[in-house]
Amino acid sequence: MNKIKVVNPIVEIDGDEQTRVIWKLIKEKLILPYLNVDLKYYDLSIQERDRTNDQVTKDSAYATLKYGVAVKCATITPDEARMKEFNLKKMWKSPNGTIRNILDGTVFREPIIIPSIPRLVPHWEKPIIIGRHAFGDQYRATDIKINRAGKLRLQFNSEDGKENIDLKVYDFPDSGGIAMAMFNTNNSIEGFAKASFELALKRKLPLFFTTKNTILKNYDNQFKQIFDGLFNEKYREKFQALGIKYEHRLIDDMVAQMLKSKGGFIIAMKNYDGDVQSDIVAQGFGSLGLMTSILVTPDGKTFESEAAHGTVTRHFRQHQRGEETSTNSIASIFAWTRAIIQRGKLDNTSDVIKFGNTLEKATLDTVQIDEKMTKDLAMMLGKTSRESYVTTEEFIDEVSRRLMNAVVNERK
Ligand code: NAD
Repeated sequence: MNKIKVVNPIVEIDGDEQTRVIWKLIKEKLILPYLNVDLKYYDLSIQERDRTNDQVTKDSAYATLKYGVAVKCATITPDEARMKEFNLKKMWKSPNGTIRNILDGTVFREPIIIPSIPRLVPHWEKPIIIGRHAFGDQYRATDIKINRAGKLRLQFNSEDGKENIDLKVYDFPDSGGIAMAMFNTNNSIEGFAKASFELALKRKLPLFFTTKNTILKNYDNQFKQIFDGLFNEKYREKFQALGIKYEHRLIDDMVAQMLKSKGGFIIAMKNYDGDVQSDIVAQGFGSLGLMTSILVTPDGKTFESEAAHGTVTRHFRQHQRGEETSTNSIASIFAWTRAIIQRGKLDNTSDVIKFGNTLEKATLDTVQIDEKMTKDLAMMLGKTSRESYVTTEEFIDEVSRRLMNAVVNERK
């Protein structure tokens, strides 16, 4: 079969455990037979990160910036137990955190909807995409315990000596308490706002941005002003042209509205709010195996896609013991298709975009029409018998069969 030529390279970032097993199957059965693509390969397995003192993680991020499109497999973030398990030199940082910092990117999580698979929130018929600001606030805060009576103050001394602020925060009683100082930067908020507006334009979806600016009149209001300012200056007309809206909402109003809605919008959220809400949305839509994640740079040009779940260690242990597994590969397949479609859009190659869409449809139809699915999805339908689900390998083979038929039919 003639392969479709992908004009520019895609950065391929390999990972760990069960997702690494799936990764190889997807690549060999669903991608390489159809695409003639230059994959710039980076092995981010925990062993390779340890061997290269994590240089390979940084290299993969710089390659992503260079080529603009990357697809990433889930990777282990080491903790004490993993240090021992792999005899690591150091507790290397989360690869996703390292890549995100180098790209200065925003993470957007999006569920894949399969109509026949029930959702915990049944009326969520369309995706709800959550964008999380990934810098500052609680995650970079300085927090302390206070053990005796005393005054807590907040100070700022400007480098040029022109501004010195010294505010009383609280008079602590003898019984003490806790305190925290947190921060963010105008540059980072602006980058987050740009990435959110760009994604809304690209996906032609309404965008909401949430804060609690009624309480945090300086802190949260600064976020709102930066978003509103950028929207008025650069995005209002583009949004109007597409018939989509941007609105700021109070976080409490938004979560209530979200629960009642049918979905079909993007919510950009501050760091902590996004952390909490993305897990609520993931649960509401069902399996983690149906949740994708993309990392977008502020200019909207560079894009890394992955499944939102981890390396599925429990299934990997079964695989290591030679037992059969039934791991859902849909989010990993969609990580590939989203990267392929983005590559096609950047290169202006409609056949590449079409292939990405064909693979997505083949994957969804395997579940929706053929009723072949992995155990996690079967269980959502209340089915637990062995006949109700297929193995990890069988599912990918089923998708492969559908894909082959679809590609052959398209070429007739
Ligand atoms: P996990 O996402 O791998 O698993 C969480 C739970 O969801 C498990 O019960 C698992 O069986 C189930 N699950 C997840 N994906 C599934 C799928 N595709 N099919 C069927 N069931 C699925 O998270 P974890 O167990 O907390 O972490 C395992 C490893 O993954 C850790 O080492 C962690 O550091 C890493 N991790 C990586 C990423 C990433 O690279 N983006 C994200 C999260 C966790």
